[in-house]
Parts: sequence; structure tokens; C-alpha cells
Amino acid sequence: MDRVFNFSAGPSTLPVSVLSQAAQEMLNYRGTGMSVMEMSHRSKMFIDIIDTAEKNLRDILAIPSNYKVLFLHGGATLQFSMVPLNLLRKSKKADYINTGEWSKKAIKEAKKFGDIKIVASSEAETFNHIPEFDVSMVREDADYVYYVSNNTIYGTEFSEVPNVGEHVLVSDMSSDILSRPIDVAKFGLIYAGAQKNMGIAGLTVVIIRDDLIGFADPSVPQMLDYKVHADNGSMLNTPATYNIYIAGLMFEWIKKMGGLKVMQELNEKKAALIYDYLDKSDFFKATIAKPEHRSRMNVNFRTPSAEFDKAFVAFTETRGMENLKGYRTVGGIRASIYNAMPIEGVETLVKAMVDFEELTKTNQ
Ligand code: PMP
Repeated sequence: MDRVFNFSAGPSTLPVSVLSQAAQEMLNYRGTGMSVMEMSHRSKMFIDIIDTAEKNLRDILAIPSNYKVLFLHGGATLQFSMVPLNLLRKSKKADYINTGEWSKKAIKEAKKFGDIKIVASSEAETFNHIPEFDVSMVREDADYVYYVSNNTIYGTEFSEVPNVGEHVLVSDMSSDILSRPIDVAKFGLIYAGAQKNMGIAGLTVVIIRDDLIGFADPSVPQMLDYKVHADNGSMLNTPATYNIYIAGLMFEWIKKMGGLKVMQELNEKKAALIYDYLDKSDFFKATIAKPEHRSRMNVNFRTPSAEFDKAFVAFTETRGMENLKGYRTVGGIRASIYNAMPIEGVETLVKAMVDFEELTKTNQ
């Protein structure tokens, strides 16, 4: 099989077993004589697919019964607007932690709807760390506190859930959901685009506590109102049926792998392989200095020059690795190693780093 190790930040690599199951079921899904793509979303068969996907997600994340799971469209980006449109319910104030491009975009959008304050930020140092945050920084009457748990672009990640006391906590977990166990009860709302750890682009999963549903202004379009989606079981209109099916396969795969504790161990092991090498290398350097701020999902690093960065990326391509070029505004090298990246992929990358470093020495 001539598959490459794909280090793309998203859409990203999927487990081969998920892809081959989808391929096997493509023409005739379990005796229905049709593919999931061709099925009515109101059919018994599809209702079974979406219900099973939700049940498995609830099992994996241990989602309490007072939370709804919604399968929505619009990417994670639509949540930048849906969150403030629905959760600015009393003071119309919300406090945001600014850790990168994705929080900046969310802040910009939220400012259209309320009084938004940045309570902690690492922008002055080009987002190279997770800023200090304490609940005392939050305005007492803030309707919610917002943060991005993993910063896909800069490669930082919160190692702990910020303590916001009694405040409602909202998290964009697009790039690290299902990579470790989390205590859902600490959050008012969690959302994530599917295209990193939950399947393919075009689906966004929202997990929202019941008591936060129903506060959108009547002028808010129904497609942007969580209550309308919750009341209609994510079927106000035609949901992203195939994407939900693939997410369902991903949830089953995680269960078979042993659940989130096992995913966490694997992810920590993979990340450590790269960071340990970066910390002892004379040639490659991790972009994020503090180990406790480093992302386990998106490992950013660089060589001594942009030329070497480019040459290294080209070198990895000759060894069956793709998409290691850093984000366009950040440069360097970025290895996205979500759940589905096998440890062999990471070992192959580290071997290429060792060999490339050696080559540059012999060429001096
Ligand atoms: N938030 C985070 C943390 C992301 O990494 C991304 C995409 N990479 C987005 C939001 C935007 O996602 P989408 O393209 O699905 O709107």
C-alpha cells in the first residue's frame, strides 16, 4: 500500500481501518443497496447512524446527561458567531483568552455582538506561550469565558482546563478534542470542527449544557440558534450525513483503541519522541520553549534558516512524508500528529531529522 505519512494540520490523516470500512460500505451500506451518501437523513438507517455516533461520543467523553450533542454545519468558524449570539444572555459581556489566530478571529466576531474583553494574551510574544490566567481577571458579570484549548498554528496547548470558578467556560477544542480525557462538567460549551480528530471537514460538533440553551434573540436566524438545533435533533435541515457517518466510525475506532486514556498515552508518547529529539538537537529547535505549553497535536520547530527548513521539508517528501511545511505566516516546520497519526509516522519523521542533521554536518 503506497500511503504517505500525512502531517497535515487539517483536514488530516484518518485511520486506515476507518477508510477501508468506509470503502467497503461505500456501494452497499449494510444491505441497504445504497451508500450512506444517498440515504435520506430521515430514514431509519441514517437515524441509527446518527444515534449510534452520539451514543459513542457520549461514552468516550463521559458526557453528562444534562448536555446536548449537536451535529452542525458551518465549520468551527461559524461557532465564533454562534457562541456570542447564544451565550451573551445577561450582561452581554464575555472575557476571552487570546492565544493565537483562532482566538483572534473568535474575538473579532464576538465584538459584533457584545462587550468583549481580552483578559489574558500572549500576542506580544507572537503567541509563543500560554499566558498566565487567573479567575480574578474575569469580570464578575461576564456571561462566559472563552479559550482555545490547542493552538493549531503556533503549537501551544493548555495542559490544564483554566479555572473560571462559577463562570460559564467555553472552549474551541477543534484541534485536540478526543486526544485525552476531559471533565465535560467543567464546561458550558465545547465545540470542534471534525477534520482533525473526528473525521472530515463539513461537520462541527457542539456539546452544550442544557441550561445555556434558549437565549438567542428572536432576531437571530434559526440556523444560528442552538435551541432550534437541539429541538430538532440536529435535523432542522439536512445534516452533513456522510460526515456524521465518518465521525461515527472515528468514535468506534477510538473505543476499539481503548478510549481516551489510551489515546492520551499514545499522543504523549508521540509528542515526546519529537520534543525529546528537538531538546537535544544542535540543529532543530522547538518553537515553543516551555514544555508545559507545548502542543501534543501540532509540533512546531525550525532549523537555523528558512533555506534549511525548506530543504528539510523536501527531504521528508523523498521519504514518504507530506505536509510538514509550517503555517504560511509562521514559517518553519509543523508536524500535526493527531490521534490517527501512527507512532511509525512519528518515528519515520524523527529518523529523517537525525539523518538530515547528520547530513548537514558532513556537508560542512
Ligand atoms: N479553531 C481552531 C483551533 C482551528 O484549528 C481551526 C481550523 N484549523 C478553526 C477553528 C477553523 O475551523 P473551520 O475551518 O472548520 O472553520
